[in-house]
Amino acid sequence: MASVQIHDVRKSFGGFEVLHGVTVPIEDGAFVVLVGPSGCGKSTLLRMLAGLEKITSGTISIGDRVVNDVQPKERDIAMVFQNYALYPHMTVAQNMGFSLKLRGADRNEIDQKVNRAADILDLRKLLERFPRQLSGGQRQRVAMGRAIVRDPQVFLFDEPLSNLDAKLRVAMRTEIKELHQRLKTTTVYVTHDQIEAMTMADKIVVMQDGIVEQMGAPLDLYDNPANKFVAGFIGSPA
Ligand code: ADP
Ligand code: MG
Repeated sequence: MASVQIHDVRKSFGGFEVLHGVTVPIEDGAFVVLVGPSGCGKSTLLRMLAGLEKITSGTISIGDRVVNDVQPKERDIAMVFQNYALYPHMTVAQNMGFSLKLRGADRNEIDQKVNRAADILDLRKLLERFPRQLSGGQRQRVAMGRAIVRDPQVFLFDEPLSNLDAKLRVAMRTEIKELHQRLKTTTVYVTHDQIEAMTMADKIVVMQDGIVEQMGAPLDLYDNPANKFVAGFIGSPA
């Protein structure tokens, strides 16, 4: 686990600025949800946390370390995307162990970590199946399993549930929260779904057009929205 500091971060693509100085402190072990309309810069911010996108100015720190110039694989972060493509020719166990194998872990270590993640996610009976033999929710759990096996300091989720049907989405919300309560890994979770944000977050960060409009505990934002946009987005009475 680790705290994450996002300080005055800007991002431009080809001279066009899409993030205009974003500052978000994230406590060790917190579950922080970034919300805002499509195109406001949520994924870009997450990709910069992961090191997949270079920041134009500002700083990002994980724990005590400024990571601006640290490569993704040196960052001790695991990311779960919306389109969590599993390797179709690998079993669940192989999918979950693959990143460890790439890092040169030995067979025992891989088995032990895959089994632990499978226990946490209730995947023990599915370890020898292939992705095509799984339901949507089971596939999503395998994608989370791939993140858990690495035992990272930080989890990043980018709209992980948006491809699931409504009923499954509600169930998976609960699962992800239980996972967080169990592991207490610092988590940054992106969604454009206000209900997901309200029910899952310790702290919500409301973004619009590349800036942070307001951040705070869900009920604080609901009771004291800073402006009409936040009120409208969170659903509090205007
Ligand atoms: P969100 O995840 O909130 O929907 P994004 O972070 O994907 O928003 O995008 C924020 C803005 O940055 C959008 O205007 C998008 O078009 C732009 N953008 C994102 N990635 C790139 C890129 N690689 N090149 C150019 N523009 C980009
Ligand atoms: Mg996005």
